[in-house]
Amino acid sequence: MQRFVGFVYHEVRLLECGGQAEIEIHLQPHGGMRGRCSQCQRPAPGYDRLPVRRWQFVPLWGIPTYFLYAPRRVRCITHGVVVEHMPWSDGKRPITRAMMGFLARWARRLSWRETARVFGTSWEAVYRSVQWFVEWGLSQRKLQQVESLGVDEIHWGRGLRAANFLTVIYQIDGHCRRLLWVGKGRSERTLRRGLKALGSEAVKGIRFVCSDMWKPYLNVLAAEAGQALHVLDRFHITMHLNQAVDQVRRAEGTRLRTASKRKAGKLKHMRWSLLRRGSRVRGRARQKLNALLVSKLATGRAWELKEVFAHFWKYKSVTWAGAFLDYWCERAMRSRLEPMKKVARMLRAHEELLLNWFRAKGEISNGAVEGLNNKIRVVTRRSYGFRTYDAMEMALYHTLGRLPEPESAHRFC
Ligand SMILES: [Zn+2]
Repeated sequence: MQRFVGFVYHEVRLLECGGQAEIEIHLQPHGGMRGRCSQCQRPAPGYDRLPVRRWQFVPLWGIPTYFLYAPRRVRCITHGVVVEHMPWSDGKRPITRAMMGFLARWARRLSWRETARVFGTSWEAVYRSVQWFVEWGLSQRKLQQVESLGVDEIHWGRGLRAANFLTVIYQIDGHCRRLLWVGKGRSERTLRRGLKALGSEAVKGIRFVCSDMWKPYLNVLAAEAGQALHVLDRFHITMHLNQAVDQVRRAEGTRLRTASKRKAGKLKHMRWSLLRRGSRVRGRARQKLNALLVSKLATGRAWELKEVFAHFWKYKSVTWAGAFLDYWCERAMRSRLEPMKKVARMLRAHEELLLNWFRAKGEISNGAVEGLNNKIRVVTRRSYGFRTYDAMEMALYHTLGRLPEPESAHRFC
């Protein structure tokens, strides 16, 4: 399964080590072949031999397995005296490439802790393996044909400080959806850093950008990717509307509880039905909702406004969509509901970007950003036992980056 040119499998031993079985695979250099320089991989005359080193290999039949080899040092014309190139090894890591690939692939399906436990190795070994896998993938990644970007912020950890937000850049093309970049913070500087990491070549090729109305992002995207059509994401706008309805409901709930118990009862347990799309509210929840609408409570009016706005997305023509937006904003401004008025002001301020949604229709896969956000949350919330931000960042690239993988003769899993 794994042949290494210039080396031979010399001996395989099954031994007992502290009551535990262990397999040792001894390697030897091929008699007739010279070692290669680890820098340039050109054959070079031998210099001396180092003591035997051990590399952890993929466990066979569940038994911990090791490669043993005494590396030669060679005298390369360009690089001087260096350790020889060993195709199963990478740098100083005491794990074979096969094992690193094996652990990294399993670490996508299991938590890192679980991976370490099942395959009889340490968390550290899994961490190093994923790191190797991701670094290789990022260095080999091609960013051609990236036409649509999604930019968003993700809350991470506890608290609402800037350090608790991540900026993410996704590719949201129909043919490929993946995480391209993630970084700490959500300032202009963060996004600039991200776009720089993608490279000016890739940024120039972007045709569509999808984001929320977050000011720092709008500024940076206008400056750095001015050629791209900037679209406000439908899911973000729905989110803002839902938040406004919820604010109205909470304020009214407090007001009513002090005034009348009976009226306050109308708002009880309504939170989720109010946030759902109207057509999806059925049964008893529907009856309650209907009662609420008849009652002329502020929450009912706010909900109706939100519901009416859903028509906006059905238009085909930019002109008609614009006319509808005007109508809706006017109605919201007359509603005397401060949170709804706030949304209306926000939508008006970004009218052009909103209408870009119709100009880009069909080109941007709707809901792609939302879907990727949800996947990110699965990773950040799952107890991977991440001790540091760096470990989590790596896990995100690993699970959502669709990175190319180091090739090997046999995959083992
Ligand atoms: Zn060399």
